[in-house]
Amino acid sequence: MNKNSYTLFLLFLIVSFFVSPLTAEEIRMKTDVVVVGAGGAGLSAAVTAAEGGADVIVLEKMKIPGGSTNFAEGIFAVESSLQRKAHITLTKDEAFREHIEFSHWRADPHLVRTVINKSGDTIDWLMEQGIEFVGPLSLYPGGPRTWHVVKGKHHCAEIVKVFCSRLKEMNVEILYETPAIKLVKTKSKITGVIAEDKRGNKVFIKTDAVIIATGGFANSKNMLSKYTDAHPDLKLLGNMGKTGDGIQMAFEVGASDRGIDVVQLMGPYVKGEMGITPLVACLSQPFLWVNRLGERYMNEATFKFPYMGNALAQQPGQIMFTIFDEHSKKYVQEAGIDFGMGVYVPTGTKLEDIDSHLKRGMDSGQVFSASSIRKLARKIDVDPKTLQRTVDAYNALCDRGKDDLFGKPAQFLHPVKKAEIYAVKGHACGTGTIGGIKINYKTEVLDEEHRIIPGLYAAGNDAGGFYGDTYDATSSGGTMAFAVNTGRIAGENALIYIGK
Ligand SMILES: Cc1cc2nc3c(=O)[nH]c(=O)nc-3n(C[C@H](O)[C@H](O)[C@H](O)COP(=O)(O)OP(=O)(O)OC[C@H]3O[C@@H](n4cnc5c(N)ncnc54)[C@H](O)[C@@H]3O)c2cc1C
Repeated sequence: MNKNSYTLFLLFLIVSFFVSPLTAEEIRMKTDVVVVGAGGAGLSAAVTAAEGGADVIVLEKMKIPGGSTNFAEGIFAVESSLQRKAHITLTKDEAFREHIEFSHWRADPHLVRTVINKSGDTIDWLMEQGIEFVGPLSLYPGGPRTWHVVKGKHHCAEIVKVFCSRLKEMNVEILYETPAIKLVKTKSKITGVIAEDKRGNKVFIKTDAVIIATGGFANSKNMLSKYTDAHPDLKLLGNMGKTGDGIQMAFEVGASDRGIDVVQLMGPYVKGEMGITPLVACLSQPFLWVNRLGERYMNEATFKFPYMGNALAQQPGQIMFTIFDEHSKKYVQEAGIDFGMGVYVPTGTKLEDIDSHLKRGMDSGQVFSASSIRKLARKIDVDPKTLQRTVDAYNALCDRGKDDLFGKPAQFLHPVKKAEIYAVKGHACGTGTIGGIKINYKTEVLDEEHRIIPGLYAAGNDAGGFYGDTYDATSSGGTMAFAVNTGRIAGENALIYIGK
C-alpha cells in the first residue's frame, strides 16, 4: 500500500467510525405478539399474553410508560369481590341495561356486556398482581359505587408501575421511544409491525398478532377536526403524543371505524391551571353558571362531568363563567365544596385558602371581581344588561326555593347578592378521544363488512363501540375499565389465535 492509499484508507476508517453510528440501520426481530402502546390497555394485554406463554414485545412512543393511565384514579367494575364485601348490590344485568339504554343502543351490546361481565374479575386479577384499592366509591353524589380507586398517591400510575415490573420478571421487553409506524399485512393476515427507534433505525418485527393500544388522537388537531366536533381550543388534559397512530395504521390495513367522533368531555377548566386544583374545584361548584352571552345554560348541580362538558360544548366559544358572591365564598371555605373533583379535591373539602387561589386566578386573567353585577359584566366582556337580568331572575328563583328553569335542587340555590361578586372563567375540556377502530366483543379488528382482520386487535381509547354519542355518565371509571378489560380480552384472544 503506497503512502497515498494508506492515508485514504485511514481517512475512510476514521470517517466510517464517526458516520456509521449515525446511519439508520434495519433491525429485525421476531415474536409471537406485539403490543403497540404501554398504557393501561397495552400493558394489560402484554401481561395477559406473556402470562399465557407468548413471547411479547411492547412498543412505546414516549420515554416513559403509562400514557393517560398515569393520571386516572379509579376503575369501573360490577359484582367485584370488594363490592360484595361492601354490600353493594348493583348487578351486571342492571349495569348492562343502564349502559346500553344510556347509549340508546348505539353502543355494541355484545362488547358492552363482555366488558361488564369481566369487570369484577379484572379487579381480582389486578389485586393478584399487587394492586390495592380504596372504595368502591362513586364519582358523583348519589351515583352507583362502581369506582375502584387505586390506592397510592398516584392511583392508576401504580398499575403502570406494577405491570412494568411484572413484564420485566417475564423478560418482556418494552422498547421505549420506538413508535410503531406501519402494520405489515400479507395476503389477508397481519404478519408484522414496522417501528422506528430514537436513532432513526427501522425496526421490523415479524409476528402473528398485533394489539393496538395507542390511546386515541387527543393531540392530533387534524384528526380532531376531521372526525369530531371538538372546538379548536378544546383542552384535552393528560395527553402527550396521542396522534392517532394506532387508528391510522389500522385504517391503512382496511379496518373500519366506530364511534370515532366520541370525545370524553369533562366539566369546565381554568386555563393555565396545572391539573385539578382548588380553583378548578371552585369553578365547578353549583353556583350560577352563565355563558359568554350572560345567559344561564344548565342545571349547575348536574354533577356529572360528561353532562357538564356536553352542555358547555354547545355554548358560544365553549366558554362559561361561574358567578358567586361573598356568602358563597364563605360557604366553600367553611362548609366545604358540594361537588368534588374525584380524589384530587374530594366533595366536602373546605377551600380555606380560596382567597389565594382566586388571587392567582386574577393574576392569570381567569378570575374577576367587582362590587356590582354591571361592573363585573364589563370586566368579563358580557353584556351588562343581560347579565343583570340573568342574576335578577336567578336570585328570584333562589328566593322562591325552586328552579323552574332547569330544576337545580333547592339546597344548591345560592343567590348572588353580597359584594364582592366573583367570576371564574371556564373553558371546555376533556380527557381524550374514546372511539376509533371497529372491533367485536373479542377485540378483533373488523373491516367495513364486519369481517375480522386476522391477527389484529385493538383496545382502550383506540377502539370504538363502548359508547353511543357520549361518555357514559351513569357509572364511574368506565374508560379505565374499558382499557384494562379490552387489554385483557385482546391478550386472551391473541393467545388463542397463535395457538397458545
Ligand atoms: C386527568 C385524567 C383523569 C382520569 N381519570 C380517570 C378515572 O378516574 N377513571 C377512568 O375510567 N378514566 C380516567 N381517565 C381516562 C383514562 O385515563 C383513559 O381512558 C385510559 O388511560 C386510556 O388508556 P389507553 O391504554 O387506551 O391509553 P393510554 O394510557 O394513553 O396509553 C396509550 C400509550 O400508547 C403510546 N403510543 C401512542 N402512539 C404510539 C405509537 N405509535 N407506538 C407506540 N406507542 C404509542 C402512548 O405514548 C401511551 O403510552 C382520566 C384521564 C385523565 C387525563
